[in-house]
Amino acid sequence: MSQSKLTDRFGRTVNYVRLSVTDRCDFRCVYCMAEEMTFLPRQQVLTLEEIARVARTFVSLGTEKIRLTGGEPLVRKDIIELVKEIGTFGLRDFAMTTNGSQLPTMAAPLRKAGLKRLNISLDSLDPEKFASITRTGKLSRVLEGIDAARDAGFKGIKLNTVVMKGGNDHEVPDLVEFARKKNIDITFIEEMPLGEISEHDRGQALCTSEEVRDIVRQQHDLIPTPEDSGGPARYYRMSDSPIKVGFISPHSHNFCSTCNRVRLTVEGRLLLCLGNEHSVDLRRVLRSHPETDDRLRQTIIDSMDLKPERHHFSANGDVQILRFMNMTGG
Ligand code: SAM
Ligand code: SF4
Repeated sequence: MSQSKLTDRFGRTVNYVRLSVTDRCDFRCVYCMAEEMTFLPRQQVLTLEEIARVARTFVSLGTEKIRLTGGEPLVRKDIIELVKEIGTFGLRDFAMTTNGSQLPTMAAPLRKAGLKRLNISLDSLDPEKFASITRTGKLSRVLEGIDAARDAGFKGIKLNTVVMKGGNDHEVPDLVEFARKKNIDITFIEEMPLGEISEHDRGQALCTSEEVRDIVRQQHDLIPTPEDSGGPARYYRMSDSPIKVGFISPHSHNFCSTCNRVRLTVEGRLLLCLGNEHSVDLRRVLRSHPETDDRLRQTIIDSMDLKPERHHFSANGDVQILRFMNMTGG
């Protein structure tokens, strides 16, 4: 695999791209979306061919890892075709973040199409709580999806849980037991202030990773491990289980100095940082230069100069970034 040709002003090498393939979703999670969402008109959304062009160009610049996300990537029509195409790029890692609702039927085709890893979001094991957090989701379907992913032969499945104080924090022990039983890693995430929401006060709901670790420690030892996925999560192990427990702490632990990633929104905006608005319009370049990827390639190289040094999220829940997480691609 080629050495990454993408380096920013702070000496960080970018070799990981997250591609949002849709802003749409069959869920309306309270921390991610408003109840009534307006989605983008079709012509503003990149076609699957355009997304593949961007992916291929990043790979030619040394990208080794791609994650498909959204919105819910599995509600994008013909997503399997995109997975098949990206699957031929010889990536070191090719993953997807999904809410799991479509996995009962799609896990096996995804695996066959060349997807290597899955992160599945799971915030509650209580059907009613799950329905209230996701507004439209059905827990049994997601649990079926997790089993389908295991049956399809996916290795290294991870669960993602956003922890909200007074919301699902009391379920942390059950979620850890579930992960241990299924032999699947689990990562707890601090809620980020992305997009304006009305359901809860983010400042009050913030449950820090330190608080979540304290809850887990009431039942289990947590041994810090230096293992790292090159990402923002910090991992712990338990002496009596093979699984890893991860923590992503955008508030309490600043991970910007090792940031190796950029994100493409579904309208083709290349975001240089999750917590800042710095971006470059790749859709314009894609559509004004349909024949060759040279300009696209140069635009991506030049965009590295815009990558900010770090994000600044305030813990009081104030919205600093107006785009919702479904636009950003989590
Ligand atoms: N729909 C897919 C899913 O839920 O897994 C993929 C997209 S979703 C935006 C990606 C991840 O971002 C999910 O794990 C979700 O829990 C997380 N997320 C969404 N909004 C968030 C927020 N405001 N703060 C922290 N994590 C958030
Ligand atoms: Fe949809 Fe994922 Fe956002 Fe929930 S977190 S609303 S499943 S995009």
